[in-house]
Amino acid sequence: MHSRFPIAISRLIDAFASLPGIGEKTATRLVFHLIRSPQQASVELGEAAAELRRELKLCEKCRNVCDSAVCGVCNDSARNTSQILIVEEALDVLAFEKANGYKGVYHVLHGVLNPLEGIGPESLTIAHLIERVKGGGVEEIILAMNPSVEGEATAMYLTKQLQPFNIKTTRLARGLPTGSELSYADEVTLSAALNGRREY
Ligand SMILES: [Zn+2]
Repeated sequence: MHSRFPIAISRLIDAFASLPGIGEKTATRLVFHLIRSPQQASVELGEAAAELRRELKLCEKCRNVCDSAVCGVCNDSARNTSQILIVEEALDVLAFEKANGYKGVYHVLHGVLNPLEGIGPESLTIAHLIERVKGGGVEEIILAMNPSVEGEATAMYLTKQLQPFNIKTTRLARGLPTGSELSYADEVTLSAALNGRREY
């Protein structure tokens, strides 16, 4: 693709370009920015990227990203553990925490069902969620997947899986524009969607 560049350059361009929201043009600009910068900048970037997956842990209760066995939310005894809000990714937890109205706990799926991309239930943390529910004490599951086709399909799948447990299942209100990313919704919209949730 970029045979006009030395391999060291085109390899990093490809790596950047594989990230969401970064096209080849931006990737090229980033790489040439690094070439102009002190070597330390590239070293730090590489080390941070390598350590990301090495050092990062997933909370053993909710699978949120954290650097200890249990995340800050699950560790907080003031949180209502009978209410689990299910989100697609850890960024969504941050969005709800910023909105500051939710006092329950979370479960992070790390994606949504997408058969076309080969993402089935086993690629997500659904089995972990079911085990958690089996543990007892859960009274409400709030489905907070994005209002996308995949988000809806995932919500429907989860509802079916959770049916045998007879737990109240709710879905966020339609305040969120269809196709929008939940983690970019403003705090007021997010709080309204949470408060207006309905039985699913
Ligand atoms: Zn947790």
